[in-house]
Amino acid sequence: MDIAGKKVAYITLGCKLNFSETSTIRHGLEEAGTLTVGEKEHADIFVINTCSVTDVAEKKGRQLIRKIVHHNPEAYIVVVGCYAQLRAKEILDIEGVSLVLGAHEKFNVEHYLKHLETTAQSEPHSCDVFKLANFNLAYSFGDRTRCFLKIQDGCDYFCSYCTIPYARGKSRSATPEQILQAVRDVAAKGIKEVILTGVNTGDFGRNQPTDLLALMKQLDETDEIERFRISSIEPNLLTDEIIEFVASSKHFMPHFHIPLQSGSNEVLKLMRRRYTREFFATKINTIKSLIPDAFIGVDTIAGMRGETEDYFKDARDFIESLDISRLHVFPYSERQGTKALEIPLVVSQEEKHRRVSELLAISDRKLHRFHRQCEGQTRPVLFEDTKVGQHICGFTDNYIKVRLPYDPTLANRIVSVRLEPEILTVED
Ligand code: SF4
Repeated sequence: MDIAGKKVAYITLGCKLNFSETSTIRHGLEEAGTLTVGEKEHADIFVINTCSVTDVAEKKGRQLIRKIVHHNPEAYIVVVGCYAQLRAKEILDIEGVSLVLGAHEKFNVEHYLKHLETTAQSEPHSCDVFKLANFNLAYSFGDRTRCFLKIQDGCDYFCSYCTIPYARGKSRSATPEQILQAVRDVAAKGIKEVILTGVNTGDFGRNQPTDLLALMKQLDETDEIERFRISSIEPNLLTDEIIEFVASSKHFMPHFHIPLQSGSNEVLKLMRRRYTREFFATKINTIKSLIPDAFIGVDTIAGMRGETEDYFKDARDFIESLDISRLHVFPYSERQGTKALEIPLVVSQEEKHRRVSELLAISDRKLHRFHRQCEGQTRPVLFEDTKVGQHICGFTDNYIKVRLPYDPTLANRIVSVRLEPEILTVED
């Protein structure tokens, strides 16, 4: 197929990594002469980047693909992403899907589209993900303000509930030179904040003579980007040196996102996580002793197989005791091919959702407490380039979301704002 002049629409499901990769696919196709359009504008080609983190995410992916095929029967439908790598045949069975590309092949959409009419499409284009050694740099920017920069991909941890290592392969990283070049590129586009993103971001630098701390020190010296954040970091990889560095850094914001997953040591063992809850608590205490106003977001999973009522209560009480700012709560999802399926005790759907609600209530209390702690302070807010209803929104250095009446002159600027209760918002 000659793709020059074709209209292409992009739809992304899932995490920030997927958003950064869709952007990179889009830039490649635009350079090949395609025109980017919205999904309602009768595109010739749709690129759908899917997620496989839960069964709900996969179901959403299937529904979306069917909907797009139904409304655009003439269009070519290209499906990429974790779901496409893990369940390619299942997707190809959906009538109307033209191409399914795996973890490596998705960065070569142009090639596969050009050969579309001459290649039989009953088979997915997919590689052995564990043989993947090369790293594809990617970065996204939805507006002119913030950018998600992928510095690492894959994961060697194999937590018992997780399919990501099977979808993305072994841990591998960009080189510091690639990252510095990407940072210069996005700075030239007017981006003010870069979020360093990966599957296991703290594992950055594996098999290279560098590590995340060394990279952070290099980035802190560039001065081309005003703010950096780390999207998420495993507790065992969040060293005291990284915390101390953030405490004294010019450009790394006082903001941590750390996956705990369970506050019960027994459940952590079932999950095959690499730390105890006591170790996790020392990390929180170190952050708070050095940076009292740091925002700490924590991921948890509720209703994991093997999580008895007693284990859950123990976990909940531990989480309640932590000086953190917000929880991101996910109901445990059964994933085909994972070790967790060998654990006999299954938590019912109803009970799982009850546990999710309990943890969300703790999260609400913690966020309100954190807001109260910071009320009255004056902090730098980076306002985003979009109008939300009648408002303009932005984030403080320590990740408090602020909302002011819309004023276009604030967009993409860092402005000192006094944090009055009425301008703080709890929306994500
Ligand atoms: S660290 Fe565990 S949960 Fe995170 S991607 Fe790796 S295997 Fe999955």
